Amino acid sequence: MYVFALEQKLTQAAKAASTARRGAAFSEQGRDASALLRLQRAIGNQAVQRLLRAIAEQRAPGSTTTASRTPQLDHPIFRPLRSNQERPRSGTQPPAQRGSTPAKKPPRRKPFIIEHRSGSTIQVPGLDRDESEFGAGGATSSLMAPAARPRQGRPITGGFSDDLRVDTAFGTGVKRATGPEIKSLIQSAGSRIDPHLLRAVRKVSTDRFVFRALRTFLETDKGRLVAWKNGGRYLGNKRPPTIYVGTAGGALDTHVTLVHELLHYVFDKADTVLGEVRDSGGADHPAIDAIEERFLIIDLIRSGQPPFHKKTRWSFGGYLKGQDYFPAMEAAIARNDPAALRAAVDDAKFVRTTVSSGVLTPASFLKFPAGPTTYHPTPDQLRDLAFIWAQNAVIVRRAMKTAATVSTRTGTPLKDVFAHSDFQQEMATFLRRFVGALRRDRTRGVVSLERRL
Ligand SMILES: [Zn+2]
Repeated sequence: MYVFALEQKLTQAAKAASTARRGAAFSEQGRDASALLRLQRAIGNQAVQRLLRAIAEQRAPGSTTTASRTPQLDHPIFRPLRSNQERPRSGTQPPAQRGSTPAKKPPRRKPFIIEHRSGSTIQVPGLDRDESEFGAGGATSSLMAPAARPRQGRPITGGFSDDLRVDTAFGTGVKRATGPEIKSLIQSAGSRIDPHLLRAVRKVSTDRFVFRALRTFLETDKGRLVAWKNGGRYLGNKRPPTIYVGTAGGALDTHVTLVHELLHYVFDKADTVLGEVRDSGGADHPAIDAIEERFLIIDLIRSGQPPFHKKTRWSFGGYLKGQDYFPAMEAAIARNDPAALRAAVDDAKFVRTTVSSGVLTPASFLKFPAGPTTYHPTPDQLRDLAFIWAQNAVIVRRAMKTAATVSTRTGTPLKDVFAHSDFQQEMATFLRRFVGALRRDRTRGVVSLERRL
């Protein structure tokens, strides 16, 4: 997932590089070309090539989140800039690295470093070098911070009547909507929900927060949900506002795409900086990727499977120096080796590696100059992204340890144990307590919260 937005930057920069070689000096393209060179220096040319290869793989037919025949997919490359979107205003961007001196300088901290497999490094402002807990930055999420002024010329505005808890509870299934509530929502929306999406709507809206977002979309903004083949798209400018959801990838991919597009609506509706500023890849994508992945991981676990999917393949160190935990976990399950599975997720670097994989792309954006098409995430936003990726890490850690325990206790092979009723019950209890604990104590630390439960 996280390669999408980076792909956009790379393609932009690569195009610009070829233009620049043809002599277009002193231009936006020239700057983008030098950005590509800087990125190659930073993460290595091989890494850039690898990312482009990974992107090509993700374009395989049947992939719901990527390119396809139609140019209208929710893919940065095919997504035109919203023409009436305002340029970022002062106050929505972090101060420039050089040339501006903030009035109050925070104490200097040693930065968190991501070590790329190529040997190059990326700094993550907002996280300390030895960060190990990854608590949120404050009582409310910087990812949901409102833009300085309401947007002009875009119809979706006004926020939500209650807190959707996007960075802790949204899509976790911990708080449920009732059957009659969902039925009534579907009835009142009538033909504005494509019949091909009814099952997906019923499924994802069992989560209370997804339900509330969907209800506001359908009832307040009179939105439409339309099925198509691959990928997805949120069109908040259209009347009525429309979400397109590809169904060709099967039920799970349809659910994930629906949640992804609905999150675009949430960031738009709440008039957040991330929904507001101009960024050619969509400034809300890093946040949506993290939340979407949490939804996917929990959906897989609750449906009796390990959290392995093409979208989680690169989330556990695949691009980084050191261990890639994804194949390690897969191999332990295939060998039916509970001790090895437990050892993989209990490794001291497991959470740090998962967080690093998650924030790699948004932190890489800092290597491009901020400008009218490139938004720089703030240190607070990077911290709050890490907060969500750390949740994803400890949910997987807990799932694997629970799988190992139940497997040993009941004699069930690891490959089958995720569907065992003991596993399901223990994980449901854990998720309920964990999400509740995050609400009460967001800033203390995700890793120790999991250990205490
Ligand atoms: Zn998107």
